[in-house]
Amino acid sequence: MPAKEILIVEDEPKIAQLLSDYLQAASFQTRWLDHGDRVIDSIQHATPDLLLLDLMLPGKDGLTICQELRRFSDLPVIMVTARVEEIDRLLGLELGADDYICKPFSPREVVARVKVIFRRLDCLINQASPKTGFTVDEERMQIRCAGQPLDLTPNEYRLLAILLKRPGRVYSRDALLDQLYDTDHDVSDRSIDSHIKNLRKKLAAIKPDQTLIHSIYGVGYKLEVE
Ligand code: CA
Repeated sequence: MPAKEILIVEDEPKIAQLLSDYLQAASFQTRWLDHGDRVIDSIQHATPDLLLLDLMLPGKDGLTICQELRRFSDLPVIMVTARVEEIDRLLGLELGADDYICKPFSPREVVARVKVIFRRLDCLINQASPKTGFTVDEERMQIRCAGQPLDLTPNEYRLLAILLKRPGRVYSRDALLDQLYDTDHDVSDRSIDSHIKNLRKKLAAIKPDQTLIHSIYGVGYKLEVE
């Protein structure tokens, strides 16, 4: 398996170097950016496996970057802040960061947190089928629910595959649209709603007693499995 790549976004070179050394010693690959305005481009160009994101940066700050990122990506994010009081406020904003670390930190602690996130993700991927009752065959673009194949259009397939990647996570309509279509497509939020409606019908045919796809008022959708 290729080494996982961590993108370190940090404007203090000494801290970035320290993090990089420790992460590399733990067999991760690293790359480093010191300016907030370059992060989204860099991720779109080459997606790392995890983003270690400092809050206070020249250019776009960590908050803005995290919000922009969540419109198109599920990339795990660890947010780094210099103030412990900030963490409560950040949590309240529901940015979709996977973890928060306060400066000054021990680099060992950072490596440990990174490993925890990857373990959690591996767990989700490996257990996806038994845990959710779904199996996803990416090559055939086929999803089975409780062993029965679902007859899905390509868009319904993509939508359900996205929701299944992280059961319980809320996806905004914008985020789903961005992942479903190329950016220049002229499609409205409504098209997501209609795909969801069709998906629900197809899922209800197999599991009539369960609501699998939940609407989050004013935001979007999530998939919940028991
Ligand atoms: Ca900083």
